[in-house]
Amino acid sequence: MTMQERLTNILETIEEAVQASGRKDKVQLMAVSKTHSFQAVLEAVSCGQILFGENRVQEIEKKFPLERDGYQLHLIGHLQSNKVKKVVPLVDSIDSIDSLRLARLVSEQALHIGKVMPVLLELNTSKEASKAGFTSEKSYYEVLEAAADLPGISIQGLMTIGPLSDDEHEVRQAFAQLRKRSEESKVRYPHLCFETLSMGMSQDYLWAIKEGSTVVRLGTAIFGRRDYP
Ligand SMILES: *Cc1c(COP(=O)(O)O)cnc(C)c1O
Repeated sequence: MTMQERLTNILETIEEAVQASGRKDKVQLMAVSKTHSFQAVLEAVSCGQILFGENRVQEIEKKFPLERDGYQLHLIGHLQSNKVKKVVPLVDSIDSIDSLRLARLVSEQALHIGKVMPVLLELNTSKEASKAGFTSEKSYYEVLEAAADLPGISIQGLMTIGPLSDDEHEVRQAFAQLRKRSEESKVRYPHLCFETLSMGMSQDYLWAIKEGSTVVRLGTAIFGRRDYP
């Protein structure tokens, strides 16, 4: 299959899942290009794909030019505080904020370069120790409490990585938890935005759509297998 055929198939599958779950809203497709070449990114862009995700700052620096033409790039991997300064000018959104400290650093750095950085708060819904994201409610709500004092970031919603499991019930429960947390947050903080629910990857995006995902992050399904050196 060509890139165009793969993307078209995926978009159709997404649309079917949206309709089947009786939803009226849209689900955006993010192409996760980690380990794949910039050439592959450009090929996807030429097929109409506009949203990309990368999980490592170093790879973004090496792979992408500063001027992005016709597409957007989000950081979706864990961000270390010593990389904040580097990454803030390089991406259109940071989808993996997982501490108040990081939120502060990103806000400061964004203001410093005259930018307001859209962000998602990442929740660890599977409680797998290997995964990033807020694990305690307390630390999550601390960020929402502080949001008014963080003018360099603009919260857009939540993100999670589902559990590594092929058990539909278990995976969907994690996604449902993210949706519930977002609905709860909307009620408690009506002035903040919780529009985005970034959940679902190649293995589980159809389940995520059934649970209300608004952005699915697909790597393997678009670019093929990853070869790690
Ligand atoms: C790699 C990655 C993806 C894409 O994974 P696939 O299984 O290849 O679709 C999605 N989200 C995050 C945070 C990732 O690191």
